[in-house]
Amino acid sequence: MEVLKAVNLTKIYGKGENQVRALDGVSLSVEQGQFAAVVGTSGSGKSTLLHMLGGLDRPDKGKVYVDGKDIFSLKEEALTIFRRRKIGFVFQSYNLVPVLSVYENVALPVELDGKKADRAFIEEILDTLGILQKARSLPGQLSGGQQQRAAIARALASRPSILLCDEPTGNLDSRTSQDVLGLLKLSGQKVGQTIVMITHNEEIAQMADRI
Ligand code: ADP
Ligand code: MG
Repeated sequence: MEVLKAVNLTKIYGKGENQVRALDGVSLSVEQGQFAAVVGTSGSGKSTLLHMLGGLDRPDKGKVYVDGKDIFSLKEEALTIFRRRKIGFVFQSYNLVPVLSVYENVALPVELDGKKADRAFIEEILDTLGILQKARSLPGQLSGGQQQRAAIARALASRPSILLCDEPTGNLDSRTSQDVLGLLKLSGQKVGQTIVMITHNEEIAQMADRI
């Protein structure tokens, strides 16, 4: 079953001579439970594509369907709620809240949705990612790789049906990358999660079902 579909996405930044055509008629279809990797050089529009797929930014042209629903037909508030419940993001720049501990960061999306965070589940994710001992630390007290793993934990904590990851192993050494990828795959298989992952690492991309 097709859960995520992009049709003819176009996004242009800037005006006149400074205009950048970041996406030029991109179409893509992802099946439920599929683990798809998107590979491309720096500046080729990968992050822009991921932001559109998750409804974080609107395209100039084209549509995105999640479970057959045209997400950009939703009003801003409905889109926010939809995103929070359905989509997990791992941002290239982590986007952790600096004044909250790692645990609080991970629990935040669930709590923003008015639910109680599942402490045991969050601790299990942190443990698998090797950062449980950092649960009470602030993001600024963590290395880049540890912050990246905290961002991955946050995306997994709300058990989203679609996980969108922007270079999730960009700051990890090769062994940790394999471990993190293994965890993403496992988590995907366990709950039938669909994953779209951006990477420029060929070796990492090979672990996906589809490139
Ligand atoms: P990638 O993730 O593949 O490196 P991006 O999607 O970040 O590529 O960017 C694609 C192109 O769009 C680049 O040329 C980038 O400079 C440009 N771009 C991205 N975001 C913006 C923005 N907010 N304003 C202007 N240009 C942007
Ligand atoms: Mg990028």
